[in-house]
Amino acid sequence: MLKLYNSASRKREDFVPHEPGKVSMYTCGPTVYHFAHIGNLRTYIMEDILDRYLRYSGYDVKRVMNITDVGHLSSDGDTGEDKMLKGAKREKKTVMEIAQYYTDCFFADCEKLHIRRPDVIEPATQCIDEFIKVIAALIEKGFAYEAGGNIYFDTSKLKQYYIFNDFSSEDLAVGVREGVEEDGNKKNKADFVLWFTKSKFEDQELKWDSPWGVGYPGWHIECSCISMKHLGEYLDIHCGGIDNAFPHHTNEIAQSEAYVGHAWCKYWMHVLHLNTDSGKMSKSKGEFLTVSLLEEKGYNPVVYRFFCLQSHYRRSLVFSWENLDNATVAYRKLIARIAAQKVKENETVEAEKLEALKAKFVAALDNDLNTSLAITAIYDVLKSDANATTKRAAIADFDTVLCLDLLRAADAYAEEETKKAAAAANTVRVYSDDPEIRAIEEAIDARAAAKKAKNYAEADRIRAELLAKGIVLTDTPNGTTFERK
Ligand code: AMP
Ligand code: ZN
Repeated sequence: MLKLYNSASRKREDFVPHEPGKVSMYTCGPTVYHFAHIGNLRTYIMEDILDRYLRYSGYDVKRVMNITDVGHLSSDGDTGEDKMLKGAKREKKTVMEIAQYYTDCFFADCEKLHIRRPDVIEPATQCIDEFIKVIAALIEKGFAYEAGGNIYFDTSKLKQYYIFNDFSSEDLAVGVREGVEEDGNKKNKADFVLWFTKSKFEDQELKWDSPWGVGYPGWHIECSCISMKHLGEYLDIHCGGIDNAFPHHTNEIAQSEAYVGHAWCKYWMHVLHLNTDSGKMSKSKGEFLTVSLLEEKGYNPVVYRFFCLQSHYRRSLVFSWENLDNATVAYRKLIARIAAQKVKENETVEAEKLEALKAKFVAALDNDLNTSLAITAIYDVLKSDANATTKRAAIADFDTVLCLDLLRAADAYAEEETKKAAAAANTVRVYSDDPEIRAIEEAIDARAAAKKAKNYAEADRIRAELLAKGIVLTDTPNGTTFERK
């Protein structure tokens, strides 16, 4: 059974969804004012593992993601400029133009990293009516008030507002962003905006009519509403990066529970940040690494996924080029080892051995998605005494979750090696004048041809025949060499 660390209870818990066999999963999506950086994508890769592993485990998963295309101010504490507006000004385009462009870029990056597309993707600007309905109900129930033209959520009306208040000081330092100005309209310091009508910037491009005047929604309300619209009043699991825990997720819980009148989301999964030597990677600082940059530098995006999976999602991860180089080397070695597993003719899967290998993989991911142990499970497969067909079956099975292109890359590698060997054999081969050596060389070539034609019996016969004459063959990537015993 899957055990997951739940940031709300601060405990590792058995994962038991509200409805047996079904999982409703919500993921905070990107704010599409710029490219996603590889830090954001770390979070999406780890969430993808959860999504895929739940499906692997037999759950019927429905996953929803919002696209933040309005209302996310440059400070999470309702101050600063709208990030979308900032992006549009920077690029001299409309908000909707940059939203579309960066949404497309985001999903193109996800595809390169083998991140599955959520079942529902909903831009905030498509749900304004929904937000207005929920905000009106919150006012009606006494959880929200109007002040200075804006609508605020009244946190003093809750029994408990702070939910994720037990992170380490390091986590809180990233969670609570600097620059939160006091807003004189708020009754309580923790109150937050549900609907803005009096924005600080007159030129807000996107505005909608509402019972409280023309304006636009706050950031937090979108995730509560989009989640409830598609997943109902009971959410099984909500995910995001650690900086989302406070105030964003805390506010989502406040609004949603006030609205539905009961507990809303059961499990909270937060992914720790990707940092560089100089600190947290941040989109708003404008200096960040993208998947395109990795590609320009010659890195395979799948290796970045491999790099992320090598460490646990609840630990922050330091990115450096050296670390990515190490991951590249490790990945190539792994692929070469998989490529070396040659399937023999008429070989079949050894069912019991396959089950035992799978059990290690399942145990690793059941253990709070321990992806580095899941990768170790691949090496265990390679070390095992199972036949190559069984090993390949296990690796194919694991890769439905890990999505590291393992067999495809290994087959491409093997093909490349064969081509290289054939090229070496074709171009370099000049037979010896010595008739005895020439006979050995011809036999070696006949064996290579037999292997190429998958006639392994013939290849083995030639090897045995030479061995009987005291000639030992050694296969190398550049062809076969021989020596006398
Ligand atoms: P944003 O596009 O800023 O709304 O962020 C998209 C996702 O990336 C959110 O789940 C954030 O919590 C997450 N995130 C932001 N910065 C990082 C980082 N440096 N490392 C990992 N995840 C991050
Ligand atoms: Zn969200």
